[in-house]
Amino acid sequence: MTDSVLLGMPALKSPREPARVGRSYFVRTYGCQMNDHDSERISGLLESDGMVAAASAEDADVVVLNTCTIRENADNKLYGYLGSLKAVKQRRPEMQILVGGCMAQRDRDIVLDRAAWVDVVFGTHNTHRVLDLLDHSEEWGPIAEVWDETTSVEDMPSMLPANRDSEHSAWVTITIGCNNSCTFCIVPMVRGREISRRPGDVISEVRQLARDGVVEVTLLGQNVNSYGRDLDLNGRSPVFAGLLRRVGEVEGIRRIRYTSPHPKDFKEDVALAMAETETVCEQLHLPLQSGSATVLAAMHRGYNGQRFLEKLAMARDIIPGLAVSTDIIVGFPGETERDFQDTLDVVEAARFDSAFTFQFSPRAGTPAADMDGKVPQEVIQERFDRLVVMQNEITFARNREQVGRIEEVLVEGPSKKNGDVVTARTRGSRPVHIAGHYPPGTFMMAEIERAAPHHLHARAV
Ligand code: SF4
Repeated sequence: MTDSVLLGMPALKSPREPARVGRSYFVRTYGCQMNDHDSERISGLLESDGMVAAASAEDADVVVLNTCTIRENADNKLYGYLGSLKAVKQRRPEMQILVGGCMAQRDRDIVLDRAAWVDVVFGTHNTHRVLDLLDHSEEWGPIAEVWDETTSVEDMPSMLPANRDSEHSAWVTITIGCNNSCTFCIVPMVRGREISRRPGDVISEVRQLARDGVVEVTLLGQNVNSYGRDLDLNGRSPVFAGLLRRVGEVEGIRRIRYTSPHPKDFKEDVALAMAETETVCEQLHLPLQSGSATVLAAMHRGYNGQRFLEKLAMARDIIPGLAVSTDIIVGFPGETERDFQDTLDVVEAARFDSAFTFQFSPRAGTPAADMDGKVPQEVIQERFDRLVVMQNEITFARNREQVGRIEEVLVEGPSKKNGDVVTARTRGSRPVHIAGHYPPGTFMMAEIERAAPHHLHARAV
């Protein structure tokens, strides 16, 4: 069930004849991988209606902004961009502007109040309704439609056409929403309670992708390790480890990745499924966020630094050659120098292959935004710089450990800086540069010859 501002909506027309043949669209995406994947689906839906991609928003008949609330200044960026589109819309009133994603979900009515020239506002679970909402707005004027608490798995389409950026690699959503309550995170508020897709639907989508030539899939969810808890299949709930093993049986898929697990829910069954399923890559993104027990408790993360390191050791014991990345937030409210030292201690002990490091900035609507103990910006910056220096040294050292190894790599495409070099990835997701011209999607063996701070150089063997 969805909550619609305007009632009397026409029912979903399925299947439908393409209604916008020859018209053009442009999708602009803000934020995370989840949004990237939703944008691929939105593009796929628009193309299924006969539309073609435009080079820019100014040239397009339909412009979709897929928004995010997580990044800093997200509101300013969105309304600034909408402001620039207002003049285009005045010149070409037939142009339709759609705003979707997390901010649309959160600020449904505000978007239409602040930008009356927007035609459609749609929420995070209403992506599959884009064509119907477009039809509706053409006939009746601006509309906003977002999910509410009664949204269920029945409301999620099992498969949507997607216009993927890559021919050989694809995202596959396994859950939406999140049942955790990390105090810095807006996701539970804008994406709602966790809803898992049924295993059969996930496997059907992966099989179809394999038939389309995809060789690598990344399973996507806010907390993949709690996958299936909300499902009841003949009295039992499916688990993520079982799903990994089943995806591993799909013929034609040679690499499986997933993101993101929550450390508190990451258990041995998943590590064993990774180790025992040949096509699951030896790569784990395990977000630490902080090494301080006090800060982790204030974040509502459900583990401490010691517990995190134990989970990591368990995973490394079970999965030989595991590459590990993480996320770390510096300057959470109340973080003292001692707390920050605890983070550095865990980072030193964990020896992550790479880390995404963030400076805390309050997100309106999250508990952390109203917490006492704000850390001054210059202190955050100084701690952040120390963390980055330490992690860069570790990343470089981990890269040097790869020299001399022969690895299977998958070519992504030509290097952005040198057309005579391709960028590929190891199973551990390390970027590798190789001289030569190989098409995207090529698998090859490569010998790692040299390490750079953030990538490797190799030769085809
Ligand atoms: S696990 Fe925490 S950080 Fe991740 S989406 Fe859920 S609430 Fe946000």
